[in-house]
Amino acid sequence: MNDTKEKNSKLVHSPFALFPSVVPKDCFELACKLAPVFNLLAFRLSNCPEYLLKHLEALTTIDEFSGKLVLLYKETVQHFGRQPQPYQLGILRSDYFIDVLKEKSTLKQIELNTIASSFAALGQRVAEWHQVARSLFDKSQANDGELPPIRNVQNFVEAMKEAHTIYDDAESRILFVVQPNERNTYDQEMIRWELWKQFGIKSLRRTLREIEEQVDHSRLPEKLILVSCNERIPISVVYFRAGYSPDDYPSEQEWNARKIIEWSDSIKCPSLGLHLVGMKKIQQVLSEPGEVEQFLQDRPEDAALVRSCFAEQHSMEPSVQQFAVELAQAHPNDYVLKPQREGGGNNLYGDRMLQLINRASKEELSGYVLMKLLRPKDYSNYLVRNGVASFGKCISELGIFGIFLSSDDNELIINRSMGHLLRTKWTRQEDGGVAAGNAFLDSPLLTS
Ligand code: ADP
Ligand code: MG
Repeated sequence: MNDTKEKNSKLVHSPFALFPSVVPKDCFELACKLAPVFNLLAFRLSNCPEYLLKHLEALTTIDEFSGKLVLLYKETVQHFGRQPQPYQLGILRSDYFIDVLKEKSTLKQIELNTIASSFAALGQRVAEWHQVARSLFDKSQANDGELPPIRNVQNFVEAMKEAHTIYDDAESRILFVVQPNERNTYDQEMIRWELWKQFGIKSLRRTLREIEEQVDHSRLPEKLILVSCNERIPISVVYFRAGYSPDDYPSEQEWNARKIIEWSDSIKCPSLGLHLVGMKKIQQVLSEPGEVEQFLQDRPEDAALVRSCFAEQHSMEPSVQQFAVELAQAHPNDYVLKPQREGGGNNLYGDRMLQLINRASKEELSGYVLMKLLRPKDYSNYLVRNGVASFGKCISELGIFGIFLSSDDNELIINRSMGHLLRTKWTRQEDGGVAAGNAFLDSPLLTS
């Protein structure tokens, strides 16, 4: 990774755990089993603008950034009916803590990421390192558990290749939408290299601003064609690794680029609808009785599995806000307040949560959701940053990638678990996120 976002940044290793961390095997298997179910759920939700708008439209008056995403989505739906391109690619990552309740480990979801889910590639490197590390140094742990096979990158590029093939234009390339000063470039480049190595598929990286500057306006809105170095490059698949944070839209140019992409016939990963499914508000709404069930009516057992991994969440909408506020005030160390943001570092805990509750207007507060804090078991490990290993108590967050390719309103051509990632942080740290500087890449050691 680059160590800073500045031009003169140095290349450093990503923070990683020296040894794999313990994850109960049954929880890991359940999480893998849930991946195709979350894919299906997210896909169905992404095709249900009435539902998304019903729950997200209020954001347009309280949260400028999320509101603008919602308004663009609404405009797109009004213009096209549903999606301008019937195919869409989903690369999701469902993140979990293994909560410990009365000595029993249970899988509980922290969040479902539907855009720019990262670290599939670097996470795989760390898992591969752990296989070596265990045979070299840690003989004691060798018999204690198993390291699951990992093929995140291969599964990733196989699905991308399918989408690229469906677009059916021999000249086209896959577009990676990236942040201008991306630190995590290599996690993306490993995917690009694999696309080229395995399938001879070319790809390119561009920021939203560059896309707006380089697009051939004469072919809009249908065709997304970039003109770069006198070459015309049609885009088959747009893979977003940016566009989820207000920082990614410093001007109207970036918003215009997002609209150009959304309205084109390129296959989006994700479509704007699928992006919105990842909003924390939608996940809170799904946890209410009957909500998940209505989207998985044909699969009641899967719906029950999904529900079993939901943690307690509360709406902050004005009509029910008083209840959530009193709960947070009575138990400030048992809840976290989450805004509609991605990428780590945005949640409020303890005193900061209470300060916001006391200061903010009812309307402002309604843009948040309140979630019960999960308490996973801690384990000791060495965590390495900048070449220095430190030993201490840590907790881990398990991420399972899901991948789907959908053809129309009903059909999933690909729907499977793509692989896994473990991120580990010191127990004292509240928020997570490797890129945010809190978590370390890790891999699971499965124990029975
Ligand atoms: P983001 O989109 O910023 O990643 P998350 O919901 O994943 O938002 O929260 C960021 C981090 O905060 C998580 O990685 C986790 O470490 C911590 N966190 C979030 N929700 C909870 C929770 N309910 N209990 C304990 N920790 C949590
Ligand atoms: Mg997260």
